[in-house]
Amino acid sequence: MTNEDNLRWLKRIAEVLHENAAYLTQLDSPIGDADHGINMDRGFKAVSDKFSTMATMDVSNQLKTVGMTLVSTVGGASGPLYGTAFLRAGTAVAGKQDIETADVVALLDAFLGGIVARGKAHPGEKTMVDALTPAVAAAKQAQAEGVTLHGVALRASQAAEEGMKATIPLLATKGRASYLGERSIGHQDPGATSSWLILRSLAETV
Ligand code: ADP
Ligand code: MG
Repeated sequence: MTNEDNLRWLKRIAEVLHENAAYLTQLDSPIGDADHGINMDRGFKAVSDKFSTMATMDVSNQLKTVGMTLVSTVGGASGPLYGTAFLRAGTAVAGKQDIETADVVALLDAFLGGIVARGKAHPGEKTMVDALTPAVAAAKQAQAEGVTLHGVALRASQAAEEGMKATIPLLATKGRASYLGERSIGHQDPGATSSWLILRSLAETV
């Protein structure tokens, strides 16, 4: 992946989150405060304003720019969580020009690590972590099998989608949805859904 490819991924994320803003907000209505789509769209609109400046940056600095922008523009829980994720992802590929499949897996691992470091959620708590944990495991497995970058991203995206769907029966024990207790059961987690969209965008790009 070149820095141009990475920028195409980021542009695709901005597009997809914009297209799905209403959907993500709708998911955040029964178990949150109906702003997840608004938050993500606002954050990636601010990122979009920097795309022209980012064109000359390496992959690491592009990702770090996304992280810093999300932290400073998104008020909800998702801002600092995804902000830390992109910052750590950028750090994982620091100093590299074109990144290989192994670097992409390391980047995704660091992305998840950022979410966990910031939010302290474990799998099964009905959060982004439930989409990202199986996704990173699938990416590692695919890479170990020698699958192409596209295959790795595709498997990560599919695992994230399954993880996202598996949040429906879960009881939320982290974030705003946890205030609902038992009433959080039966709803798909909005953050797990945006995590899937971010990974699906990668699979569509590479
Ligand atoms: P807020 O909850 O502040 O309104 P958003 O609506 O933008 O923020 O994001 C909600 C999403 O954040 C949830 O669906 C969940 O996936 C995620 N989330 C909340 N708390 C945590 C946490 N501690 N760790 C991981 N993800 C979390
Ligand atoms: Mg919300």
